[in-house]
Amino acid sequence: MKLYSTQEAARWATPLCLPRSSLTSLRPIAGRKADPKRRPMNQLNMFAQSQPVKPASVKGCTLIYTPRGRAREYAALACNVYRGCDHQCIYCYAPSATQRNRDDFAISSTRKDFLRKLEKEATKYQAAGITGRVLLSFTCDPYQHLDVREQITRRTIQILHRHDLNVEVLTKGGSRALRDLDLFTPEDAFATTLTCLTDTASREWEPYAALPNDRIETIRRFHQAGIPTWVSLEPVLSPPASLEIIRQTHSFVDLFKVGKLNYYSMAQGIDWHQFAHAAIALLTSLGYKRNADPDTLQSGQFYVKRDLARHLA
Ligand code: SF4
Repeated sequence: MKLYSTQEAARWATPLCLPRSSLTSLRPIAGRKADPKRRPMNQLNMFAQSQPVKPASVKGCTLIYTPRGRAREYAALACNVYRGCDHQCIYCYAPSATQRNRDDFAISSTRKDFLRKLEKEATKYQAAGITGRVLLSFTCDPYQHLDVREQITRRTIQILHRHDLNVEVLTKGGSRALRDLDLFTPEDAFATTLTCLTDTASREWEPYAALPNDRIETIRRFHQAGIPTWVSLEPVLSPPASLEIIRQTHSFVDLFKVGKLNYYSMAQGIDWHQFAHAAIALLTSLGYKRNADPDTLQSGQFYVKRDLARHLA
């Protein structure tokens, strides 16, 4: 089996050297409380939802929807807060998913009449008795730069909460998300995507997203506030970097989702079989358990996305 070279690891994954003492291994730390009027959270498992995790989408609703294809592995319900994304990640699949060219997609904007329509849809979900987490977002980043001014994400969270829905934020916006930390409860979740640990690699692939250290510090802050956290290791641009990310973040990450890189020629030069086994071995050694059902993931587990799981045999 080929070993990862130290040169390759250094390019992508310079250690952050976070002092172990600064990390938290017990949670929750802060006493953020769920709204007593809302449904109770599962006290034994902060990540598991206390309601069915396969909510059907409500007919006629388009803003809150059930994702299809590979996105369905991430969430049963999702909502795209903005149109386009100003982070401009090189590997972004969203322009093709939304049938827009990359230049046009990078000029993000608010969605027409979004909050009024969202309120109406959330009301319908509530009337149908559908609860659960809504992932923000697949085809944009909820904490992209545009959100600093528009604050649509904050109002989206407030609307969903008012109608018994929770949120699961997946962002590369780093500390921009801290503005809304006060809205999160232990029934919500906060997640970040990490592809590398060096600023150089991040600027190359995700030029306008928050830098890796900022994202890591932010997820640590959410963890300290008692909010369930997870990290998306997808796309994997460098297997050594992704493994190092696990080592450097596991103390404050409840759950990992591990994928691979698709659609890039450099993906063909990566030994995915080796990476899949190395990631599973590492996560297992750290006490995480593999769960092959994305709808029943719990704290202390990890999920290997189907694209990567195919390489395990
Ligand atoms: S943050 Fe997400 S949606 Fe935005 S450009 Fe990057 S990959 Fe695309």
